[in-house]
Amino acid sequence: MQPFRLEHPYAAAGNWYKGNLHTHTTLSDGELSPEATIQEYEQKGYDFLALSDHDLRTPAERYREKTGMVLLGATEVSGGAHILCVAIAEDPPFETDRQKVIAWAARQHGISILNHPNWGHNFLHWTQEQIETLTGYAGIEIYNGVIERLEGSSLALDRWDRLLSAGKRAWGYANDDAHLRRDMARGWNVVQATAKDPTAIFEALRDGRFYASTGVIIDRIEVGEDTVYVAARNAQRIRFIGKWGQELEYADSAEAAYRVHGNESYVRAECLGMGGQAAWAQPVYILPKEPKSL
Ligand SMILES: [Zn+2]
Repeated sequence: MQPFRLEHPYAAAGNWYKGNLHTHTTLSDGELSPEATIQEYEQKGYDFLALSDHDLRTPAERYREKTGMVLLGATEVSGGAHILCVAIAEDPPFETDRQKVIAWAARQHGISILNHPNWGHNFLHWTQEQIETLTGYAGIEIYNGVIERLEGSSLALDRWDRLLSAGKRAWGYANDDAHLRRDMARGWNVVQATAKDPTAIFEALRDGRFYASTGVIIDRIEVGEDTVYVAARNAQRIRFIGKWGQELEYADSAEAAYRVHGNESYVRAECLGMGGQAAWAQPVYILPKEPKSL
């Protein structure tokens, strides 16, 4: 086996902060006003929230005085398969070219996330070819809450493993896509950040320093020279997944470590708990070891 090194987004220290990036209000097709939406999430103990109405930028700054949560300005761009653009400063242009939407968000130093890939009666809101062809987006929704009550699958772990196995880099996000109150608090992201401020939280979301969850709480993610260790207090099973979605190992326990062999391409941890709840750590990429000097 060739010597390898592990590349991963996690930091040795930092606090965990919980948030949802995909939320609709009465400014588009949501049930609740921005103020009531913010209040709901604040009461549920969220640390950050992105309001992301369809095809307009929900003006987060207007509501910042009213909440202790970090609010991020965002939008969900339609005109094709949906893209969530977070931390953008302007209203989105009308644009059907998906690559141009991603470029528009990037020019404002925002991030793009491809929404609910498995939405629809054909489970194909995004084709796999589109996902694999586009560049410059941060990741995909591996879980989208509103699809629980719509056609298709709320989960898109299959798409994520195919994408990662094809050699693409993409983080996995879990979002509510809340339109109604009943959609709230189904899926969220827990970032590792040094402070509860917009910059630290945004950078963690952009750089993959987070895990996605529907209820399982990860306490520690540690990556060593050749090991991936995860502790999740309410997990009953921890699975390590590699290329093309293969289970590499599992443990019926609230903590587990995996020793990397070097040919897995990537390793990601999936923590399963009661009632179908889960948490998904971001992939650890296995790369050839660089020579010491060039
Ligand atoms: Zn949406």
